[in-house]
Amino acid sequence: MDPKETKERMKIPKQVMPEQDPHERVRNFFEVPYGYTAEQAMEEAKRCIQCKKPLCVGGCPVNIDIPWFIRLIAEGKFVEAAHKIKETNGLPAVCGRVCPQEDQCEKVCIVGKKGDAVSIGRLERFAADYEREHGEVQIPELPRWSGKKVAVVGAGPAGLTVAGDLLKKGHKVTVFEALHTAGGVLMYGIPEFRLPKKIVQSEVEYLKRMGVEIVLNAVVGKLETIDELLSGGYSAVFVGSGAGLPNFMNIPGENLAGVYSANEYLTRVNLMKAYQFPEADTPVIRGRKVVVFGGGNTAMDAARTALRLCPEEVSIVYRRSREELPARVEEVHHGEQEGLKFQLLTNPKRFIGDNDGRLKAVECVRMELGEPDESGRRRPVEMKGSEFCIDADVAIVAIGNGANPLIPQTTPDIKVNKWGNITVNPDTGRTSKKGVFSGGDIVRGGATVILAMGDGKKAADSIDEYLKTGLW
Ligand SMILES: Cc1cc2nc3c(=O)[nH]c(=O)nc-3n(C[C@H](O)[C@H](O)[C@H](O)COP(=O)(O)OP(=O)(O)OC[C@H]3O[C@@H](n4cnc5c(N)ncnc54)[C@H](O)[C@@H]3O)c2cc1C
Ligand code: SF4
Repeated sequence: MDPKETKERMKIPKQVMPEQDPHERVRNFFEVPYGYTAEQAMEEAKRCIQCKKPLCVGGCPVNIDIPWFIRLIAEGKFVEAAHKIKETNGLPAVCGRVCPQEDQCEKVCIVGKKGDAVSIGRLERFAADYEREHGEVQIPELPRWSGKKVAVVGAGPAGLTVAGDLLKKGHKVTVFEALHTAGGVLMYGIPEFRLPKKIVQSEVEYLKRMGVEIVLNAVVGKLETIDELLSGGYSAVFVGSGAGLPNFMNIPGENLAGVYSANEYLTRVNLMKAYQFPEADTPVIRGRKVVVFGGGNTAMDAARTALRLCPEEVSIVYRRSREELPARVEEVHHGEQEGLKFQLLTNPKRFIGDNDGRLKAVECVRMELGEPDESGRRRPVEMKGSEFCIDADVAIVAIGNGANPLIPQTTPDIKVNKWGNITVNPDTGRTSKKGVFSGGDIVRGGATVILAMGDGKKAADSIDEYLKTGLW
């Protein structure tokens, strides 16, 4: 691109994505941003200066050819752009919505050095939505069957990626999923207003149309063990069972009615549609005053979900300061627009119940920041004598999740670390057990969708090699 054109492109302002008005959206579960129009997408795509050495590609954990797909959008070739992305990313409509692009591709975008980075995530979302909405989703031609079958445990982003990639390499794949719906956290954790469930299901349908077999309500470790799968016709097994075990604070009163883990709360509302109770079977306590403990994306999702159930007040209680909040800036911004309150430098000490065992308040203590801990963040320290009570009839504990223990418990020759995460060779996803591979949150602890997918891609390559050579 000649310098004059580069200069012209650098002058194009970043396109603002239209979104639902905060006062309206806080009363519904519809998606918050509407997405770009075709004109906006083309204009935004023209902001990319088509770098010779595109740093954005290295910033993407699955190395999407970003300048190429953006150029196709700028030329109005939207379906081609979607196909380009799908060469390396099987879930672009999902990733375009939930990936932390500000810490990945957009963080290193050259245009961002002097102004706003190109909105790579929004363009990815646009291309994937365009392809789906215009009925242009193509099923790729598959190679002849290799004669091998692979079992995948868990239909989250890691498992679904492995399944799609192995099918394209000529192997048959069966995914066993414990829940009644495929998608993992994309279905039961991330709320509808951030990631509409019909989008996740259309990505799952695409894999099924390609030929992936998905068996629902199938808990591996209860129905069949990994050894039984290996001796029952599967040549390899990939474990992508996630980190679905909620951490608790272990403080008095945690078993009172009205105290939820974020996992339970979000599953009730997202997966079981508790906001439609009594039409849907599962209830949830809506509450008058809701407090959410934690500062990450899960806390933000739980708090913004609670806001939509119409209580008087929803607050995030976080023990560090605003600068240390691990949630995405966009989520904090959206939460504040919707009326979310923050009690920073505050930590709970005990839950207080009424005579019927229902939560009525939480005793908290103020914190101050001391010396940095091993994570490099300043350690929060209790301020003696600063205890106070917050009125609350619902509390949601969102302080992270641990590894799901069932698989390691039922297959003891799979090695785990001290937190219960499966240990693998990070380059291949191979576990300590021959023929068994793993990746995603069960290996990393709670991480991100794209990292789980990246693990899935690496494991699929390694499984393919193992199936061809038999070498371990
Ligand atoms: C509320 C919330 C919000 C998040 N927001 C974001 C975000 O905005 N952006 C982002 O990038 N990441 C986000 N994450 C993290 C992200 O969702 C995870 O890192 C990702 O889903 C991990 O993928 P996975 O495939 O390893 O596991 P999961 O998505 O957890 O899927 C594992 C699947 O395995 C199934 N399973 C478990 N045990 C068994 C068994 N024994 N047999 C059969 N099936 C089994 C589970 O039911 C589940 O469906 C969020 C997480 C949460 C909880
Ligand atoms: S770094 Fe930014 S400007 Fe350069 S190719 Fe990537 S998206 Fe385009």
